[in-house]
Amino acid sequence: MLIVVMKPRVMVKDMGAVLKKIEDMGYQPHISRSGERNLIGIIGEGNEEKIKDSLSVLEGVEQIVPLSQPFKLASREFHPEDSTINLGPVVIGGEEVVVMAGPCAVESREQLLEAAEAVKEAGAKILRGGAFKPRTSPYSFQGLGEKGLEYLAEARERTGLLIVTEVMSTGDITLVARYADIMQVGARNMQNYALLQELGKARHPILLKRGMMSSVEELLMSAEYILSNGNPRVILCERGIRTFEKMTRNTLDISAVPLIKNLCHLPMIVDPSHATGKWELVAPVSKAAVAAGADGLIIEVHSHPEEALSDGPQSLKPEVFKKLMEELKKVAAAVGRKL
Ligand code: PEP
Ligand code: MN
Repeated sequence: MLIVVMKPRVMVKDMGAVLKKIEDMGYQPHISRSGERNLIGIIGEGNEEKIKDSLSVLEGVEQIVPLSQPFKLASREFHPEDSTINLGPVVIGGEEVVVMAGPCAVESREQLLEAAEAVKEAGAKILRGGAFKPRTSPYSFQGLGEKGLEYLAEARERTGLLIVTEVMSTGDITLVARYADIMQVGARNMQNYALLQELGKARHPILLKRGMMSSVEELLMSAEYILSNGNPRVILCERGIRTFEKMTRNTLDISAVPLIKNLCHLPMIVDPSHATGKWELVAPVSKAAVAAGADGLIIEVHSHPEEALSDGPQSLKPEVFKKLMEELKKVAAAVGRKL
């Protein structure tokens, strides 16, 4: 794969001629911008020397460089500027650190509305809550399905919060898309390529969580599946990986945040709840994530964690969440961000 770097402020007709030549050679061009320059990514296998020879003679072409990373559309080489995801008044990946919060699972109308009011009041912008739950045991609560989605939509109506919720299979995409503002791919599905390909055809932003046994490169290759199928709106999420440590549910790979921000232009958030499995660790780890450059957080909040049908031990009570939000403002300000 190659990147054609166009000269600054290139003429539309020159740009068009380069795109046409790329298509005539049988490749798909992908356009991005770097300051005043257009960049054109050429994806596909082929004779790079031949492509270079054909394009370098065209008007407006400054240089043609190979893309060194295996992930292409996700890479900063192809897209040097940060990508932002605009959802009306909420922008993910911009100056503001965006907090998504709510229960692990939608359990009932009352439970969800109570949590939604509380996280809204504390300053969260997006409500989380699973209607389809990927549980380790088939005997555990599996989620309310469409009823849960209806409650999420009602909570959005009441609070103005946007909704992020998980989609577990290709067959559920149409249904979940009808209710969600952001569709979440859970850790267990990070390498479900059929699901990723279908979500690449969706119009919703996708929150892609890192698999519990996946490398950073594998995460970025999974993002590439969504991007290369036509959906540019991907948010990455570090949620802890499996290590030998047993005292926490997972081990938060904090270095993944700056590492990915260097390699990739997509917004990157952290899930301190699944990363630690312990509510006492959620606040300090959230602060560390913001300090490390995360564009947002996704935090589990439940009004009665002791009664939660899933992930109670890692869920914050609303008053603890509220206090954390206040503290996070200071951390965000210290690293030049808002919250
Ligand atoms: C979740 O966010 O509810 C969840 C199941 O997380 P993960 O896929 O990261 O385990
Ligand atoms: Mn959970």
